[in-house]
Amino acid sequence: MAALSLADFKRLVVKVGSSLLVADDGELDRAWLDTLAHDIAVLQRAGHELIVVSSGAIAIGSSVLGINKRRARLEGLQAAAAAGQVQLVHAYQEALGRHGIAAAQVLLTLEDTENRRRFLNARGTLGRLIEGSVIPIVNENDTVATDEIRYGDNDRLAARVAQLVMADALVLLSDVDGFYTADPAADDSAEHIPEVTRITAAMQSMAGETRSDFGSGGMATKVQAARIATHAGCSTIIASGQIEHPLDALSTGARCTVFRPQGTPAAARKQWLAGVLEVRGEMAIDQGAAGALRNGKSLLPVGVVGVSGNFRRGDVVNISGPDGAELGRGLAEYSDQEALRIVGCRSEEIEDRLGYRGRAEMVHRDDLVLFDKD
Ligand code: GLU
Repeated sequence: MAALSLADFKRLVVKVGSSLLVADDGELDRAWLDTLAHDIAVLQRAGHELIVVSSGAIAIGSSVLGINKRRARLEGLQAAAAAGQVQLVHAYQEALGRHGIAAAQVLLTLEDTENRRRFLNARGTLGRLIEGSVIPIVNENDTVATDEIRYGDNDRLAARVAQLVMADALVLLSDVDGFYTADPAADDSAEHIPEVTRITAAMQSMAGETRSDFGSGGMATKVQAARIATHAGCSTIIASGQIEHPLDALSTGARCTVFRPQGTPAAARKQWLAGVLEVRGEMAIDQGAAGALRNGKSLLPVGVVGVSGNFRRGDVVNISGPDGAELGRGLAEYSDQEALRIVGCRSEEIEDRLGYRGRAEMVHRDDLVLFDKD
């Protein structure tokens, strides 16, 4: 296998497991975090975009509240998350701040990634932070998430975030340096697998038997995360974070497992859009907008000449050209009622028409698929 180089990836999501950051007594390992922040700063200076998904809130907060996190009831864990999250994100703020980098706290619930309207909101915010070179520090909003509606593990949350921002790499840092044929802690014959091109059912069940990390995820959630991310066109890397400068180490040959992606993030998003069966409405656009879309631009209200159907923000709408031919489809940034009010509107007029500040796009270019001409 060719050596892995993080330099090959433009947008990276890095997931940090609890056991790397927080000791059993709830103490944060700031020295290690400093080495991670250093690696992040080096990558960012070289033009890469980074998002961190960090666990550790419950582990830190449990010691603040004197809770045994393995036996605590839900409200205990929710309280621990609240008490720990503030310390967790502050530690990142300090560590990144030493490199002149600002951090932002982003707390997500399951619905923020599964519901399309909220998905657009989360994507917009994360995109704007990345654009401003601020590092989003993402965690699950454990304080309000209840058992039925939570991820419970940050491996899958990180995979969803990677999909959301169309990252091209997801790095899962934990206490294992990759995927093994069996649990290496329990079985001497366990073999390390450096590269996976296809996740099989056998691998999934192998992972089910392997425990790692004293956070919630084991190998099973890591393989599930790899499945989500690779289907979204994102390479997934399972690597050990139990070393200083864990990201730098990857580029200099540290052992890991790379799950190869299926296609690119853009192709995966378009394939998904093309396959959505439920189309709720239609937007007719003018010649200028049709040309702009072909050049990879977003659809702006000014280019829309007609709106029909019954749709909400996040629903799929068809887009038709001046001759009525279907050009493609995309996720509406506005409901049908709102869209009707801003048809033909220039961006600076949107607020006046709606009475609140809207978004610049009718359909964002990342959420748009154009059909072939013939
Ligand atoms: N969100 C949890 C926390 O911050 C961690 C979940 C996990 O261990 O993956 O403590």
